[in-house]
Amino acid sequence: AGRRARALGVIEELEGIFATPIERLRLIADEMVEEMQRGLTSDLAGSSLKMILSYVDKLPTGDEKGLFYALDLGGTNFRVLRVQLGGREARLVKQEYEEVSIPPHIMVGGSIELFDFIASALANFVATEGEDFHLPEGRQRELGFTFSFPVKQTSISSGNLIKWTKGFSIEDTVGKDVVAELTKAMERQGLDMRVTALVNDTIGTLAGGRYGDQDVVAAVILGTGTNAAYVEHANAIPKWDGLLPSSGKMVINMEWGNFRSKDLPITDYDRSLDFESLNPGEQIYEKMISGMYLGEIVRRVLLRIAQEASIFGEVVPPRLEVPFILRTPHMSAMHHDTSPDLKIVAAKLKDVLGIANIPLQTRKMVVGVCDIVAKRGARLAAAGIYGILKKLGRDTVQTEKQKTVIAMDGGLYEHYSIFSECLVDTLRELLGEEASSSVVIKLANDGSGIGAALLAASHSQYL
Ligand code: ADP
Ligand code: MG
Repeated sequence: AGRRARALGVIEELEGIFATPIERLRLIADEMVEEMQRGLTSDLAGSSLKMILSYVDKLPTGDEKGLFYALDLGGTNFRVLRVQLGGREARLVKQEYEEVSIPPHIMVGGSIELFDFIASALANFVATEGEDFHLPEGRQRELGFTFSFPVKQTSISSGNLIKWTKGFSIEDTVGKDVVAELTKAMERQGLDMRVTALVNDTIGTLAGGRYGDQDVVAAVILGTGTNAAYVEHANAIPKWDGLLPSSGKMVINMEWGNFRSKDLPITDYDRSLDFESLNPGEQIYEKMISGMYLGEIVRRVLLRIAQEASIFGEVVPPRLEVPFILRTPHMSAMHHDTSPDLKIVAAKLKDVLGIANIPLQTRKMVVGVCDIVAKRGARLAAAGIYGILKKLGRDTVQTEKQKTVIAMDGGLYEHYSIFSECLVDTLRELLGEEASSSVVIKLANDGSGIGAALLAASHSQYL
């Protein structure tokens, strides 16, 4: 009885410290707007948001034509892809892709090894190009490179890595132009291809989304990590000192995973997770909402309950002490368990954590922990989107019935339905019924790869 009371005490405490009441979300959204503003003003203004200029000032129109490749590096998998674009009428004639998983030692090894690994996978893929794809005589193949880490962009096709995130840690790439590194690796592979667009997955998703729907104004990624991009008025970017683009627009890569605000409900679990992470002090928002971390937060909470209330027996199960052993897909499987005796929860606890014979009450408690952690993440993500809508002036009822579409991508949003439903509900609550009727979140499945290929087309050397 003492145990159960102690465990319930911890849960009650959790509900308090993880709470995200709507007023608090509004404060967070307002701070997001302020940080966006500050980041657009100057790189030295001290914003937690880098608000990186993407050099993308035109998004796909539908007229793009030809064969284009894309490479998408941004998480544990990377994808190579080719499309045959047929212009306004024929549109996307054919697409093919392949997914390759990155061995863990490559993620924390040397720069040359990483780029050689990527270029070799790309070369293998190009070798399988079939008859449905046509490269005009005498032309070089062109590639859009989706590289989903913070980059200081120097042109549409060059940019220096600011830092690694999401478990990558390769010191000698930091500060280098990743397009130059990739180009050298392609040369080492004997692959004749030119990178014509370097973009982030958010910008790729925005471009891919816009190709399918002209009302897309922003893109959000909720996968291993999280980020957002949106279309800004070029004259609302004080730090932009180049010529105003003819479109009057510029896509901004927010790097919102690094967002920080005094109103974020940061708990001791978040603090210790951050402290022990590969990038302490950075990506605080990402560490509260993205797929790489949600399962790990749950593990930390369960470990504490096990230590304080012995809910898994007198001895703390050793596997529960292993960082990142409980992945977000495990968490999501437990959270969605609708069987009366929670047998999926029991199976995950046994298979992943080596904990067997757990009473139903305790299984329910585990689901409760997943619920608290997932909903905090989803609600904080909704507050961020609401912030972008406010910055764009699309948080109120649109007189001319303007639709606002947010292109969304990422395995977390796609597969964790309790998370995505909570996000959508929270955004509706923040916007109010009327304004929310003109706002749509559209799942753009793998839009970033196609988007990069589309941007490679709109920035082709042959135009
Ligand atoms: P990436 O972000 O690495 O480019 P994805 O967009 O495919 O790749 O997202 C993968 C991430 O999505 C995983 O790291 C995981 O955190 C999350 N994810 C995948 N499947 C599920 C699932 N069933 N439930 C919850 N989260 C999931
Ligand atoms: Mg991705």
